[in-house]
Amino acid sequence: MSQKYADIIIDISHEGVDRTFEYKIPDELVQRVQVGSVVKVPFGQGNRTRQGYVISVKDSSEWDSDKLKEILQIDEKAVEVEGNLIRLAGWMRETYGGTMIASLRTVMPVKEKVAGRKQRIDVMDEVPEFAPVGELTAEQAEVVNTFEKDYDAGLRDRYLLHGITGSGKTEVYIRLAEKVIKSGSSVIVLVPEIALTYQTVARFRTVFGNRISILNSRLSKGEKYREFERARSGETDIIIGPRSALFAPFEKLGLIIIDEEHDGSYKSETTPKYHAREVSFERARIEGAAVVLGSATPSVVSYYMAERGDIRRLTLKRRASGGSLAEVSVVDMRDELHRGNRSIISGELHRRLSDAFSAGEQAMLFINRRGFNSFVSCRECGEVIRCPRCDVSLSLHGNAKLMCHYCGHTEAMPSACPKCKSKLIGGYGTGTEKVEAEIKKLFPGIRTLRMDKDTTQRKDSHGKIIEAFRRHDADCLIGTQMIVKGHDFGNVTVVGAVLADLGLFDSDYESAERTFDLLTQAAGRAGRAEKKGYVVIQTYQPEHYSVITAAKQDFEGFYQYEMAYRRMLRFPPVYELLGVLITSKDEEKCTLLADRLTDELKQHFEGKGTDIIGPAEAVIYRIDEVYRKTVYIKADDACKLTGIIDFIQKRTVNIEDAEVQTDLNPLRIV
Ligand code: ADP
Ligand code: ZN
Ligand code: ZN
Repeated sequence: MSQKYADIIIDISHEGVDRTFEYKIPDELVQRVQVGSVVKVPFGQGNRTRQGYVISVKDSSEWDSDKLKEILQIDEKAVEVEGNLIRLAGWMRETYGGTMIASLRTVMPVKEKVAGRKQRIDVMDEVPEFAPVGELTAEQAEVVNTFEKDYDAGLRDRYLLHGITGSGKTEVYIRLAEKVIKSGSSVIVLVPEIALTYQTVARFRTVFGNRISILNSRLSKGEKYREFERARSGETDIIIGPRSALFAPFEKLGLIIIDEEHDGSYKSETTPKYHAREVSFERARIEGAAVVLGSATPSVVSYYMAERGDIRRLTLKRRASGGSLAEVSVVDMRDELHRGNRSIISGELHRRLSDAFSAGEQAMLFINRRGFNSFVSCRECGEVIRCPRCDVSLSLHGNAKLMCHYCGHTEAMPSACPKCKSKLIGGYGTGTEKVEAEIKKLFPGIRTLRMDKDTTQRKDSHGKIIEAFRRHDADCLIGTQMIVKGHDFGNVTVVGAVLADLGLFDSDYESAERTFDLLTQAAGRAGRAEKKGYVVIQTYQPEHYSVITAAKQDFEGFYQYEMAYRRMLRFPPVYELLGVLITSKDEEKCTLLADRLTDELKQHFEGKGTDIIGPAEAVIYRIDEVYRKTVYIKADDACKLTGIIDFIQKRTVNIEDAEVQTDLNPLRIV
C-alpha cells in the first residue's frame, strides 16, 4: 500500500488554525483516517502525545518521509464539534475552491481577546420586549404540525416555507425552534443583517430570554468568539444572526432556519464564496439536522428544488393578523412626461401621499440608488467624470462632492467640464436625496427621514432611523432597497417604488428576480394592520414580466416566465454556472493568464455538456488599479464544475502578482 499523509492541526482553540503539521498515516489506520478525524500524535520536543484534527489526507509529501512522525491512534468516539466543522470546511473547499485554511477560518473563527467588557449585554438589552402572539392560525398550525410529526419520527427533512408577507412566518420559526430545543437539540436562525435590528430579534428574545445568542456585524471578532463559546458550552440553545452564524459550534444541532432565504447577503463575496443555503444543507446532512428556508418570494433556485421534490414545500397563503394585501398600481412614467409632469413623483403617487399625510398615516418611498444623482456629465461635449482608479463614473453627493462607490475616492465637484471647459455640467439620474428634496417641495411641512448607505455609516444609525419612523417622528421614510426588508409598520399605508426599473438594466441574470422580490416585498409593507394599503410602482417598463407579476403578487407567474428565460440562456438553476475572475495590477499579465487558463479549460473540458465562455473583460474592467478578466463555465451537472474548480486550483497555485478566484453559481455576472 502506498504511503498516505495527513495535514493536522494540533490545537484548535488557539491560533493553531493558521498552522498545520504533516504526519504519516500508518497502514492500519489508512481506511479510517479522514478529514475531521480526531487523532493522537507525538508533538514537540519529547514527543508528548497531543490531540490533533485531520484537515486533509494526501498521497504525497514535500517533506522527507523518513523524518515525518506517524499518527499514533484515531479517536473514533470523539465525533466532536470540531470534527464536524472541519468536515464541513473540507466540503466547502472542494465545492467552492480556495485554500483549506480559508475554509477553516470561515467555519472556525480564530480566538481573540474581547476588548472592553459586557458588550454582549448591551447588544441584548437594546432590544425591547415584544408582546407575544396568541393562538396560531390554522395555516400556521398545519405547518408546525407537519414539521413536528416529521421531527418526532426522526425525519430531518429540508423545507421551503413559502408564506406571503405578513403570514406570520416568524411565529412559525419560533414554534419550530421551541420544539427542537425541547427535544434537546439546538437551533441556528439566519436572517439578513438588515432584519436584525429590531423585530425578529425582539420576538425571539421574548421567547428564549437568556438562552439565545445574537450576532450582528457590530460585534468584534472577540465578542463573536465569545458568543460561539456560549453555544459550544451549552449556555445557549439558539443563535440568531447573519450568514456566519451558520457555523455556531453547537454540540447537537437539530434545526437551521434561513429567513428571507432569497436574500443576496447569504452569498459570501470573499473566498470561499459559499452560499449559506448550500452550506446549511451540508451541515445539516453531516449532523442530522432539519433545514427550513422561509420567504414570501422564494429564490428561483429553491423553488426549482421544491418543484423537483428535493425540498418539501409548505405554504402560508393568508395574512396572520387578518388584513388584506395592498392595492397595487403601475404607473408608466413615459405617460407622465407626455402629460407634462416632469416631477419624479407621478400624479397617482402624489394623490396617495396627500391622502395618507392628511389622514395622519405614513408612507415609504424607495429607490434602488444612493446619492443625489448617479453621475455627472457635460451637456456640451458629453464627458462623464470618472474615477481615476476605477472604470466607473463618480457619483455626486450633496452638490459639491464626487465619490467613487467602488474604491472610496472622493473629489470636489468641478465648476467646469475638465475636457471642454463648458460650465454646463451637472448630475443626471436620480437618488434618495433628490426624492427627499422633491417630497419636501411638494409637501411642505411633511417630516422626512432618509435611509441609505450615506445616512447609515454609523453602526447604530440603521436601528435609530427605523425606531424614529416607528414612533412617527417622521411621516415619510425615503431610502434605498434596505427599507423594504422585514420591517412591520402598522401605520404605513402608502409605499412608492419611485423608479422600479433600475435593477433591470444591470448586466445581471438575476436582476429580474431581484426586481420582482423587491417590488413584492415592498408591496407587503403597506397596509399591514387594519388600514388599507396602496402601492404605486413607477416604471419606464410597465410591460416587463417582473413588474406585471409583482403588481399582481403572482409568484407562480413570475417563476414560470423566469424559468423559461433561464432555460433558454442556460443559467442556474437549470444549468450550473462557474465564474472565474482573473485579476492583476499588471494588465498584460492578467491577459496572458486569462488566455492561457481559458485555452487549457477548453482543451480539457469543452463539449460534453460544458460551455466555456471567455475570456472577457469584467463588466468593470479596472477597480482600484487592478485589472479584471472573467471566464464563465456552464455545465449540466454540478459534479463537472467540482472537477473544473480543482483543475483551476492546481493550475494556478504558484502564480505570482495575479490572483484567480472561482465563484460557484455567482449571483451576478461581474
Ligand atoms: P412574515 O414574517 O410572514 O411577513 P410576521 O411574522 O412578521 O410575518 O407576522 C406579521 C404580523 O402578524 C405580525 O405583527 C405578527 O405579530 C402577527 N401574527 C403572527 N402570527 C399571528 C397569529 N397567529 N395571530 C395573530 N397575529 C399574528
Ligand atoms: Zn465638456
Ligand atoms: Zn474608484
